[in-house]
Amino acid sequence: MEINQLIRTNIAQMQPYSSAREEYKESDKQMVFLDANENPFENGSNRYPDPQQKSVKRILSEHKRIPENQILLGNGSDEVLDLLFRAFCEPNVDNVITLPPTYGMYAVLSNLNAIKNREVFLNADFEPDVQAILNQIDENTKIIFLCSPNNPTGNSFSDESIVTLLKHFKGLVLIDEAYIDFSDKESWLQELGDYPNLIISQTLSKAYGMAGIRLGILYASTEIITVLNKIKPPYNVNSLTQSKALERLNQYEDVISEIVNIKEGREYLLKQLLQVNFIEKIYPTDANFILVKVDDANFRYQQLLEKGIVVRNRSTQPLCSNCLRITIGTKEENEQLINTLKSIQNG
Ligand SMILES: *Cc1c(COP(=O)(O)O)cnc(C)c1O
Repeated sequence: MEINQLIRTNIAQMQPYSSAREEYKESDKQMVFLDANENPFENGSNRYPDPQQKSVKRILSEHKRIPENQILLGNGSDEVLDLLFRAFCEPNVDNVITLPPTYGMYAVLSNLNAIKNREVFLNADFEPDVQAILNQIDENTKIIFLCSPNNPTGNSFSDESIVTLLKHFKGLVLIDEAYIDFSDKESWLQELGDYPNLIISQTLSKAYGMAGIRLGILYASTEIITVLNKIKPPYNVNSLTQSKALERLNQYEDVISEIVNIKEGREYLLKQLLQVNFIEKIYPTDANFILVKVDDANFRYQQLLEKGIVVRNRSTQPLCSNCLRITIGTKEENEQLINTLKSIQNG
């Protein structure tokens, strides 16, 4: 597969903006910086951030065993996914495939970029319908979005479905692994070398507990990362985000122990939810949330709100009628949820 043939012509031909920090890179020498029109008085934030976020990439590279030139960082997953659209999808010509019920941003981004979103619903087990997906592909299909573990259903897609799509589709396959750290299944990162069309997104927003700093990560071949680097805004990850991310990545044991704690909370909730009589179905989950089907989602949602608990009502999503999505909280929050659910149940 030729990645270069997938790139939009205007993007392939464009010259990137060369920022001051990009032009002069050496950082070890003591220099006088009069190149970027910054205010010279040091306050911790008066300088432009590193456009290539080298320190953050170095530690991610060590943790994930992926070379730095196969990593792209952005202002949340939102930005790195938007860059994918802009690099590979020609407005009003190309299309992408998404698999509802899934993460809402793929549809928003395709709309924003004037790209047709061909929706192929998951099957009754929330697995991709591979044959239906292959039937939807044409020469203008550029990206298939696979969210695994999937939001809002919580399950991971079967390896077999994913491999079939990677092998049979000549465009790009994006696997969104926002919830991978809560799963016992392996990430697809180590398969990058085997599939030149594979792209993986991760984020510091969920397991790493850093939703507020907005740091999204894309892993792909050097060819793909090079194109995305060329078109990204030069200073897309600010210096406060970079330093917070570094701090957190250096306290990896804390992250691990929080993940263990959240997984214990998940086991507790899965058991306790069985005892709530208006919950009709509890879907299996590899994520930090649980999807449940109740008797009347709008009614139960309102009841919980009145008791001070906010869950996500997903009942308007395809295949999710009367479904609520519940995030795993702290031990105390989980207990409060269960007590509340039991207090509002019938009879
Ligand atoms: C929460 C979530 C993200 C995270 O997005 P950020 O912009 O990095 O905060 C990405 N993908 C999915 C499926 C999510 O549920």
